Amino acid sequence: MLQLFMPLGFLGFVYREIKSSLANIERLFALLDRQPKVSDKSDARDLEVNTSTLSFNAVGFSYDDSRPILRDVSFSIMGGEKVAVVGASGAGKSTLVKLLFRFYDPESGSVTIDGQDLRDLSQRSVRRQIAIVPQDCVLFNDTLRENIRYGNPEADDDELLKAIATAHLEDFVARLPKGLDTVVGERGLKLSGGERQRVGIARAAIKDAPILVFDEATSSLDSRSEQAVLDAFSSMAQQHTTLVIAHRLSTVIDADRIVVLHSGKVVEQGKHHDLLLENGYYSQLWQAQQRRSEQD
Ligand code: ADP
Ligand code: MG
Repeated sequence: MLQLFMPLGFLGFVYREIKSSLANIERLFALLDRQPKVSDKSDARDLEVNTSTLSFNAVGFSYDDSRPILRDVSFSIMGGEKVAVVGASGAGKSTLVKLLFRFYDPESGSVTIDGQDLRDLSQRSVRRQIAIVPQDCVLFNDTLRENIRYGNPEADDDELLKAIATAHLEDFVARLPKGLDTVVGERGLKLSGGERQRVGIARAAIKDAPILVFDEATSSLDSRSEQAVLDAFSSMAQQHTTLVIAHRLSTVIDADRIVVLHSGKVVEQGKHHDLLLENGYYSQLWQAQQRRSEQD
């Protein structure tokens, strides 16, 4: 997602910027989002996490006044639950993630974590509690170790090894001639899409945040590498409040709840089997994807 509109030279700049300020992955997003749209209130409080319950409450939003992007969107993810948001491309799924990171504020309604309105909180304290695996994990020209530690520059070796295990990267690292000291990225070892996404999972895991977001993180993978990434991910998701954004529905069958977004509105929500029985929009999406995968 990031590379689509960012020349690599700029990413290099962003990386140095980040390394020098010891910031983390969210800062990259913040820098890429051109100028900050939202700033902390003068009396902003720090988020106090309890069960890490996340709620979108009748959220309305548009990037510019001309076109509503989200309309009256409401759903919650209780602590420890895994909720999937599905819908066609352009439906507004990633916009929900941007609101959660508070790159923007809703125009109406609110986003809350454990009942606290994000608008009253410091952005830093909110972003500290959320780890994201984006659509395409960006690797920097640095060692694999530093690429993973980027999720939490203060992490020690124990935490690093735990994150590698969570991401199912142990065998991969063992096969590398220089192990974790192998340089990856543009001028280093090229990783496959699936390996890159598992580095993204390791980065998220090392951050050790209670809320986990997975934004179409397997949509560019073939089904075998997708399964490897999903396996790594699901072991991690169990201990987190998890929001999964998915285009491919087969990846979210096991979600506690699926929220179906259509043109910025929640049109259905429920478990996979119940949604199929409803015979509505989700069931149409499902059938269309089944037909496509039969053709492959
Ligand atoms: P999804 O993730 O479901 O594919 P998005 O949330 O990325 O959808 O986008 C929803 C709509 O908002 C799309 O029509 C998209 O073109 C538009 N959009 C996304 N980001 C911006 C932006 N920064 N400025 C203006 N429009 C945007
Ligand atoms: Mg998206």
